[in-house]
Amino acid sequence: MRVVKLKKKNLVPFLRKLEEFGEVWGPVKKGDRYVYAHTDPENFDLKALRTIIPPKKFFVPPKFRMFTFKEDEWNEEIDTKKRILFGLHPCDIHGILILDKLFLSNYPDPYYKTRRENTAIIGLSCEPDDKCFCKSTNTHSVEEGFDLALSDIGNEYLVWIGSSLGDDLQKMGEDLIDEDVTEADIKKYIEWRKKRDGMFRTDIDLTAMPDIFEISYNSPIWEKLGEYCLSCGQCSMVCPTCNCYDVEDNYRVGSEIERNRHWDSCMFREYSLVAGGHNFREARSERLKLFYTHKLAGYMSIFGKPACVGCGRCADTCPVGINVPNVAKALKGEKVDAIWAKEVKDAG
Ligand code: SF4
Ligand code: SF4
Repeated sequence: MRVVKLKKKNLVPFLRKLEEFGEVWGPVKKGDRYVYAHTDPENFDLKALRTIIPPKKFFVPPKFRMFTFKEDEWNEEIDTKKRILFGLHPCDIHGILILDKLFLSNYPDPYYKTRRENTAIIGLSCEPDDKCFCKSTNTHSVEEGFDLALSDIGNEYLVWIGSSLGDDLQKMGEDLIDEDVTEADIKKYIEWRKKRDGMFRTDIDLTAMPDIFEISYNSPIWEKLGEYCLSCGQCSMVCPTCNCYDVEDNYRVGSEIERNRHWDSCMFREYSLVAGGHNFREARSERLKLFYTHKLAGYMSIFGKPACVGCGRCADTCPVGINVPNVAKALKGEKVDAIWAKEVKDAG
C-alpha cells in the first residue's frame, strides 16, 4: 500500500478539489452530537468521535423507493450519485466491510452495490472515549475497505492509498500532496498507535462468546434484560452492522404501485409476527437474545469475528443501559454498572 503525506493546512483545499468526483460528506456538530453533512469541508469537525447514525445510511438509506410499476411499465430507482464520505473511523469502515459480506456475497443487492461502487471512503484516525471498545473487537485499525485513510502525525497526515480510486483521488489534489514520507514520519505513526492503544478504558474479552451464548441460552439474565428493554429499536438504528429491513407496496394515484424499503429492527414486536398471528419472538427477552446472539456469536462462528465493531453507539443510545459491554460482562458473571445490574445479579 502506497503512503503519501498531506499538511493539515492543506486538508480543506484538498477535500474541496474532490468535489470534482462527487459530493463530499463529512461529520459536523449538531447540538452536542455529530451527523454527516454535505457542506463546505471547512465545516467538518475533525474532533467528531461517533456520528448518531453510522455511514450505513449512505448504502442502505432508512427509507427509499426501489421501483414503481404499472401494468407493463417498470421503473427501477437505483441511486447512482457519486459521493465521498470523509472522516470515517476504523470501526465504521469495519462496519461497512461486514455489510459488504451480507449484501454483496451470494445474492448481491443491486441498490447497495451501486451506492457502494459510487462512494469513495476516506478514513481518519481517532482516539477512543470511555464507550469505544474497538480494540476488543480488533477493529481499531484498517487495512482494507477505504480509498484513502488519513493518520494524524502532528502537523501532517500520513495518507494511505487503499485502492485505484484512492490513487485517482490523491492525483486530483497532487499539488497539495507530499510524496516524501520519511522514516521519522513512520516512527511518529508507530508511536501514536502505541499511545492510542493504551487509551482504551473499555476492554472486553469476546473470544469465548459463542460458547458462553450456548451455555447461557436459558439464563435468567435474558428475562431480566427483557423486563427493562423498551423495544424502542434505537440500538438497531444506530448500529453500523444492523441491516434488517422491510419491504412494502403502496398504491399511488392512477393505479401505479411503488415498492419501498425501510429499516426494521428485530427488537420490534412485529418483526417476528407471521401470517396467522403467530409470533416467534413475542417476549422482549427473546428478541434481545436474537440481537446479541447475532452480534457476539452467530456471525463469529461463520466469519471468525463478532458482528460488533465496538463503536459504542449502543452504549451511547440505549435509555436503560443495555449494550454490548454490559451484556457480555453480565453473561460472564462480571459486575455491571447499569440500572438492571442489581436484579441480574440477584437472578444469577
Ligand atoms: S452492537 Fe453496539 S458497539 Fe457493537 S457495533 Fe453495534 S452499536 Fe456499535
Ligand atoms: S436494548 Fe435499549 S435501545 Fe435496544 S430496544 Fe431495548 S431499550 Fe431500546
